[in-house]
Amino acid sequence: MDYPKKGRYRHFKGGEYELIYIARHSETDEPMVVYKALYKGGETPNGDGIWVRPLSMWTETVTRDGKTFPRFSPVEDEFCVPPPCDDDAPIEAYTDDAPIEPERTLAHQQSVQEEIGDIRKILSDVYGYTSFRDGQEDAINSILSGRDTVGIMPTGAGKSMCYQIPALALPGCAIVISPLISLMKDQVNSLTQSGVKAAYLNSSLTERQVSLAIANARKGRYKIIYAAPERLLTERFLNLACSIPISLVAVDEAHCISQWGQDFRPNYLDIPKFIASLPTRPRVCAFTATATENVREDIKKLLDLKNPYELVTGFNRTNLFFRVLRPEKKMDALSELMRSYEGMSGIVYCATRKLVEDVSDKLKLMGIPATRYHAGLTDDERKRNQDAFSMDEANVMVATNAFGMGIDKPDVRYVIHYNMPKDIESYYQEAGRAGRDGERAECTLLYSRQDIVTQNFFIDHMGEESGLDEKEAERVKELARVRLNSMKGYCLTDECLRAYILRYFSEASEDKCSLCMNCQAGQTKVDISPVSKIILSCVDESGERFGASMIVNVLMGSSEERLLSCKLDRLSSYGALSQYERASITEIVEQMVEKGFLDRDEGMYPILRLGPNAASLMRGSMKMTALRMPEAKSSRTKKAKKIMQTTLSTDNKELFNRLRVVRSRLADQKSVPPYVIFADATLHDMCKRRPHTSAEFLKVNGVGETKMRAYAKDFISAIEEWEAAQK
Ligand SMILES: [Zn+2]
Repeated sequence: MDYPKKGRYRHFKGGEYELIYIARHSETDEPMVVYKALYKGGETPNGDGIWVRPLSMWTETVTRDGKTFPRFSPVEDEFCVPPPCDDDAPIEAYTDDAPIEPERTLAHQQSVQEEIGDIRKILSDVYGYTSFRDGQEDAINSILSGRDTVGIMPTGAGKSMCYQIPALALPGCAIVISPLISLMKDQVNSLTQSGVKAAYLNSSLTERQVSLAIANARKGRYKIIYAAPERLLTERFLNLACSIPISLVAVDEAHCISQWGQDFRPNYLDIPKFIASLPTRPRVCAFTATATENVREDIKKLLDLKNPYELVTGFNRTNLFFRVLRPEKKMDALSELMRSYEGMSGIVYCATRKLVEDVSDKLKLMGIPATRYHAGLTDDERKRNQDAFSMDEANVMVATNAFGMGIDKPDVRYVIHYNMPKDIESYYQEAGRAGRDGERAECTLLYSRQDIVTQNFFIDHMGEESGLDEKEAERVKELARVRLNSMKGYCLTDECLRAYILRYFSEASEDKCSLCMNCQAGQTKVDISPVSKIILSCVDESGERFGASMIVNVLMGSSEERLLSCKLDRLSSYGALSQYERASITEIVEQMVEKGFLDRDEGMYPILRLGPNAASLMRGSMKMTALRMPEAKSSRTKKAKKIMQTTLSTDNKELFNRLRVVRSRLADQKSVPPYVIFADATLHDMCKRRPHTSAEFLKVNGVGETKMRAYAKDFISAIEEWEAAQK
């Protein structure tokens, strides 16, 4: 038989217990359940609350008032949706056409004013934080005041708290509409772990689970119900929604309602119909991380929001470090980075399936626990690999851009792009999957000129199956090339990388930040005009007839056949820069194109010509600057290392790792991802504070009442063990 799983159970009389393990009786060999009372003292004679009882007793049912109950039922049954099971634990009778009770709803509306809970208390009790992040409090207060609200907040700004906290503060149950099953599951898991009663309704549930969830909802057991848009207009769901007091309707990923948005979901258009069918219109709020002006207008109009309060918190992600490397061998640069990220969770994006295979194989050979994800794998393998990443069994996910929608792992510490993506929008979205917990994270892009060739190839073959006419297709390609050009600019700029991105999204920003490679390295720029002038004269004296690689060959003094046959070895610039690394000179050529000192014909023959600013550079009225001098041939490896040193904090690494082990164990017991137990930030704060008592533990950022009760003991003993080992 299957033994009951470890975890929390409720006795039919109401007391909660934790099943610790199943043992065997030393004489009879009978299976015995060892379990512990979760309330103070427990009921055992010696007061330690540990019970040992035969398994047969644990699993038997009891009958009271003609109804049959299991003696112990998993606590999740109460508010989370149970895992699929074939046992027939009783579901209290319900009918889909139970009478609607409008009186109750009206009475509830009138009493709302007196009943609003203290949001700061919720913030600390449930989430364990002492202060709000940017914009959160404004959004929450607007929702509580009864006003419709739209929030445009970047990934990682904590938008779910903006509707969850009002849901907890207001009487009644909130309905959250969300497009993705994995997101719903994650959010409900997190809420449940924090002691909030929540459930989700989507196509991943069995009929029995749906019935159970609806029965519980009717009894008013949930504060928050997540639902897929497809479910809203079903008779069953509408009946439920009309029969319970609804505190608010929150629309997550609201850009899905707009055809301008990249993730258009037609069922989102059902939301206003659903709201109109409710006996009283609840307050409505909508949140998204990606919204251009068009999409924002669509959200307000199509959701039929009434004079909504609009909150836009901006695109800047202050916890992300940006870096662009232009390595000669990408795999070497990647290995170097991976070594500095040992044990951390990260994503490596590659442009093609083949590269995903190559890179993940190589990482595995290096002993790095990597897994892979691309559209060529079976559904089953994709799901398995995604779960392995999410549960921290595989630290590194190597993937194409197919990996992303629905990834809500907050503790991704780095995102590396092995290839340049097609535009800044894609880059910022993918890189933005790092550091969603607000902790420091790094975004690195490995650029090479080949990436431009690859992306141009994709653009040339765009729209072949889309049914666009020739003119439309040309227009689409043209826009794609403009966007690609901005992406290239990002890879080559020596200005602040963050400022470059923010300007692209038309957001005002400082010229410098302190958290990107260029700002850190480029406090003082060096004048590389002399080298640049040599490059210009080479292009000039070779008659503006050659591409970059031939020009660099000439400057390096190569004896390649075609070069000799064109008599380029007779030029005065032949071999003039041979003391430098080829990659450095290539990089300078690219930057000169970017700055208008050189010009390049894009297309079949990318010939270099003198650019509009060439004359000014030659005359000396303009300068060519860079972050560093071109590298001389011998000094290469040393410098590369220095650039790649990680900026992530490594303080107390040993204690941190111990706490991570505890977290993984607890997550395993509860079958949830580790970050649902605690975020990295919480573990860092734990390292700093090293709590020894429950009261101290409660002060750790991210620890609320429920989690304190559930986990304080395990973490405190790990800290004490570590401290003892230090002596
Ligand atoms: Zn910067």
